Amino acid sequence: MRLTILGGSAAGPNAGQGCSGYLVDTGSTRLVLDLGPGTLPELRRHADFRTLEAVVISHLHVDHVLDLVALRFALAYNPVRPAGPVPLWMPPGGEAFLAAVGSAFAGKAEGETFFDDVFTITEYDPTSALTIGDARVTFTPTIHYVPCWAIRVEANEGRALLYTADTGPDTDFSPLAGNIAVLAGDAGQPEPIKGEAVRGHSTAAEMGSLATALGVETLVLSHLWEEVGRDRYAARAASTFDGPIVVALPGATVEWS
Ligand SMILES: [Zn+2]
Repeated sequence: MRLTILGGSAAGPNAGQGCSGYLVDTGSTRLVLDLGPGTLPELRRHADFRTLEAVVISHLHVDHVLDLVALRFALAYNPVRPAGPVPLWMPPGGEAFLAAVGSAFAGKAEGETFFDDVFTITEYDPTSALTIGDARVTFTPTIHYVPCWAIRVEANEGRALLYTADTGPDTDFSPLAGNIAVLAGDAGQPEPIKGEAVRGHSTAAEMGSLATALGVETLVLSHLWEEVGRDRYAARAASTFDGPIVVALPGATVEWS
């Protein structure tokens, strides 16, 4: 299995670094988890966007979905035509969300099928597993400001990737626990926000604690602000996790078996 980081920035892109987006390759199946602003250019370096087995979206915040619009135009108008639509798995409410976004962007010639022309759109049921090629994809809800689902990907009974998507520190990840090689986590909050009723993001130290609790091999720190500093994030995560730490950068990869 290989994870390629397509972005890694928090709510707004850092210099030369898009927001949330991950390419997961099982060896025969290529999935993209989230496609935030600035991640499509990086995706193009690593995979043919026309032939992905699936794009899976964790939640409907703009820093996780905006390049679906860019991908729609790439699929619709690139002179090298895709053989067919790309499967797009949206969270609950995703179809209505795309209809609204499509109506805002569609030109007269593009009509009401703005996204449907290039994607096969399905809302996943977060209580059920998806089988996509040889990948098994499962979900659990996170504590965030809008409904959001963490995503576990595994293949061929090997060790899994757990992508937390956006999450506060109090999410229960036990439904997705066990046999995880790589935790890609929302770790960008510099400090807890004082007085916040619900924590919707985590600090690097909190993500390190989660990595330790889950017994993962490698921790990927993501959803980061460059103003905080990569070394600072890494040091904070290292205070609670002893294993390898990867601070997200576009094109960085983690491989495991
Ligand atoms: Zn979010």
